[in-house]
Amino acid sequence: MDLCETRNQLLNEWKEATALYDRLVASVVAQIGVMKKEDLDHLMETVGVAANFAERMRKNFELHLETHNCANQGRNRSRRRKVSI
Ligand SMILES: [Zn+2]
Repeated sequence: MDLCETRNQLLNEWKEATALYDRLVASVVAQIGVMKKEDLDHLMETVGVAANFAERMRKNFELHLETHNCANQGRNRSRRRKVSI
């Protein structure tokens, strides 16, 4: 197999950033009505930072695919699976 390692790494970073964001959102939801308003606001700010970070990771990943042209490397994408109901 000839997978692009940078691509894998960027994908992992994006996934981790997204997972972090998800965890933060979950903790905000859990703290609503529990935390003081100002603490919650502070937490929301952190969520915003994490969202930006995840977005940046996504862009990094997409930019790499564009410039390196390795999007279809490795496995052939079978995205067109038909779903029968
Ligand atoms: Zn690549």
